[in-house]
Amino acid sequence: MNKAVVDPVTVRHDTVIPAGEPWIHELNQGQHLRIIDLEGNQAADTLFYNAHDYSDRYSAQDTIRAQANIYLTTGTKLISSKGNVLLTIVGDTCGRHDTLGGACAMESNMVRYAIEKRHMHACRQSFVKAALAWGRGLEKRDLAPNINFFMNVPVTPEGKLTFEDGVSGAGKYVELQAEMDVLVLISNCPQLNNPCNAYNPTPIRVLVFD
Ligand SMILES: [Zn+2]
Repeated sequence: MNKAVVDPVTVRHDTVIPAGEPWIHELNQGQHLRIIDLEGNQAADTLFYNAHDYSDRYSAQDTIRAQANIYLTTGTKLISSKGNVLLTIVGDTCGRHDTLGGACAMESNMVRYAIEKRHMHACRQSFVKAALAWGRGLEKRDLAPNINFFMNVPVTPEGKLTFEDGVSGAGKYVELQAEMDVLVLISNCPQLNNPCNAYNPTPIRVLVFD
């Protein structure tokens, strides 16, 4: 396992999410969530919601505008569609996370790769599966543009998006503090067609602590 040090007394949750699996969990205000890229260059596609109002959800547009920067790293406040600060990134040993590239889907499999890739597993299906299993009114229409933790999607001076090899590595992590009660929905990306993970999706570990 990784060498990330957390006081075991305060750890409330510690899970390894296999590649291709979703994870859904509520954080109380003040709790920390650490997401660890165990083997490196994995993408953790993530959505956040106000735990008491799922229509108040992570907004990539408002987050980018508020910090006047397209990349997410330490200090970034994740802003909701109703203008609340959901969480703050308080630690980041990777250094850059994407919120422009979106989540992979059956449709993007088809458009980016090949028509016969359509039915391969994608993050959007993991999001739907976990949302419906969670219930409580969370459903497909609540899947808004997401964050791709550990993913490197630089923008060129001409404004073009490029999906590059990851800048993450084994054991690198991002840590967030919940500024209110939030629901976290992660799809640990199952994508087998994208060179950014060397065609080899790998597990991530999530720690929740007070
Ligand atoms: Zn994906």
